Amino acid sequence: MIKIAIYGKGGIGKSTTTSNIAMAFSKLGYRVMQIGCDPKADSTSSLTDRYRIPTVLDSIKRDEDIALEDIVYDTKKNILCVEAGGPTPGIGCAGRGIITAFDKLEELDAFEIYKPDIVLYDVLGDVVCGGFAMPIRGGYAEHVFIVTSGEKMSLFAANNILTAIDNFKNRGYARCRGLILNSRNIENEEQIVQEMADEGGVEILKVIPRSHYVQMAEEKGMTVVEAFEDSDMAAEYMDLAKKMLEATKACDA
Ligand code: ADP
Ligand code: MG
Repeated sequence: MIKIAIYGKGGIGKSTTTSNIAMAFSKLGYRVMQIGCDPKADSTSSLTDRYRIPTVLDSIKRDEDIALEDIVYDTKKNILCVEAGGPTPGIGCAGRGIITAFDKLEELDAFEIYKPDIVLYDVLGDVVCGGFAMPIRGGYAEHVFIVTSGEKMSLFAANNILTAIDNFKNRGYARCRGLILNSRNIENEEQIVQEMADEGGVEILKVIPRSHYVQMAEEKGMTVVEAFEDSDMAAEYMDLAKKMLEATKACDA
């Protein structure tokens, strides 16, 4: 089982990227479980026909005694979806949902029962504390990829995530395998991100262009890889998925 966490600033394109690579992995013959770790709880919406799957936190609130089927949505496309969820705004800690969700999935033997080949954690990376650090701190994810653009705030978040990974490197074993540059088309974007990558000792794994196909697919409640499978943009996501696999395998050797 390959366990991957995708981190990045809110709104940078984590869920879009994660869902597209989930679909790409599925097309490559892998069984995938995508776990949304963002209080927004919309990580998997383009995989579920926009159906808002019940979050783990909400389900537990209703009934402590839940079954796996209550929180794992099977898309029937070899992709299983989970949304950790978040607390009522103003009450409780946002990261708490993630901790609770991970505990519940473990208690119910989710990985043993569904046997995914690849687990994708889609994690909000604005503040890497508490629950949001769980995937890298608790030994959940082995490989981290950070989505960033050349914009200052997203680079700031990316740097924070790199620092967190470095701080936890002796306790867990998550390592950053690369940056995913999700283009915002700002001036000298690649150069700006390359400089940050050099300073952080990481590489840009892939530059994803900005594309109207993303919005067009979103309107259909689908990923680009599924809705426009012959498009250039779908090919970019397929290529990213392959590069990610290579990056995770390279470090097994
Ligand atoms: P996050 O999960 O990081 O909060 P989302 O994946 O929800 O961010 O993306 C935020 C918005 O950015 C989405 O509405 C999506 O349509 C848009 N977006 C993301 N990546 C691209 C891209 N490569 N090209 C065009 N639009 C994009
Ligand atoms: Mg998201």
